[in-house]
Amino acid sequence: MTEVIDGEAVAADVRSDVAGCVETLADAGVTPGLATVLMSDDPASETYVSMKQRDCEEVGIEGIHVDVDADAPAAELFGTIDDLNARGDVHGILVQLPVPDHVEKREVLRRIDPEKDVDGFHPENVGRLVAGDARYKPCTPHGVQKLLAAYDVETEGADAVVVGRSDIVGKPMANLLIQKAPQGNATTTVCHSRTEDLEGRLAAADIVIAAAGIPEFVDGSMLKEGATVIDVGINRVERDTEKGYELVGDVDYESAREVAGAITPVPGGVGPMTRAMLLYNTVKAASRQHDVAIDL
Ligand code: NDP
Repeated sequence: MTEVIDGEAVAADVRSDVAGCVETLADAGVTPGLATVLMSDDPASETYVSMKQRDCEEVGIEGIHVDVDADAPAAELFGTIDDLNARGDVHGILVQLPVPDHVEKREVLRRIDPEKDVDGFHPENVGRLVAGDARYKPCTPHGVQKLLAAYDVETEGADAVVVGRSDIVGKPMANLLIQKAPQGNATTTVCHSRTEDLEGRLAAADIVIAAAGIPEFVDGSMLKEGATVIDVGINRVERDTEKGYELVGDVDYESAREVAGAITPVPGGVGPMTRAMLLYNTVKAASRQHDVAIDL
């Protein structure tokens, strides 16, 4: 019987833990604050930012939002980040990506105070993650780790295949899976567009993390019987539905479900975890900056 991994339920548990931490911080006179910065007219980015603000409100985190005109010079964005770095009531800063082409993304990531970098994308935080001493784990792979833990998926000694090598998903995911730590100790293969024999690698995998950004790319015929399948993908495909589209993952859910031991649905799998782990990192940031112990 295939187990469907319920990301909504695990994310609700994380949010409840976070809300408990917010109370502990409040007892110490601290209200955690997350600043979101949007330099884009893209409606999808606007939606993501407003969802993050709503999530904050729900658990008692103070949401602060700053819009920067998409045509403004890069210096204006950097000035905004500097101001937020200096503010004592802002513990986490998230610049919604992508930024416009005239702004150098790496410079943006470097500009954020690493202590406030709740996305975990600052090079210092990337380095710490790789060294096994993470300050803030990037939200999506951290969310996947939480799902694996919640469903007692054995990673130690398992053969894991990560499909995708992006800086925000594939690379940090692989780094977490190889660490000498819980939900680590997996023998991990990272695949990408130049990988040869992806099928052979998938067929041998106990754990598959699909993050290629290609709709329904991995199907059941490619999987090992009983594998745990974590579908990170979120793709909008045109379908004959009321909205005219459907959200699908990088895994062909129906065929994969026939073979997998456990599988995440899309939506309702990794997506809610990514959002919850941002709140987790924000309370962690507040606890670090005010030296208040919290139970996370
Ligand atoms: P990117 O486009 O940055 O990376 C995709 C990766 O997949 C690249 O490394 C690419 O390889 C690899 N790839 C492309 N084609 C193939 C192929 N044929 N075989 C093997 N590998 C391939 O995407 P992201 O990592 O940002 O996101 C991946 C997916 O996850 C997207 O659908 C995105 O929407 C979703 N996502 C979901 C989140 C959530 O909360 N659930 C959060 C973040 C992302 P190469 O490097 O060689 O180009």
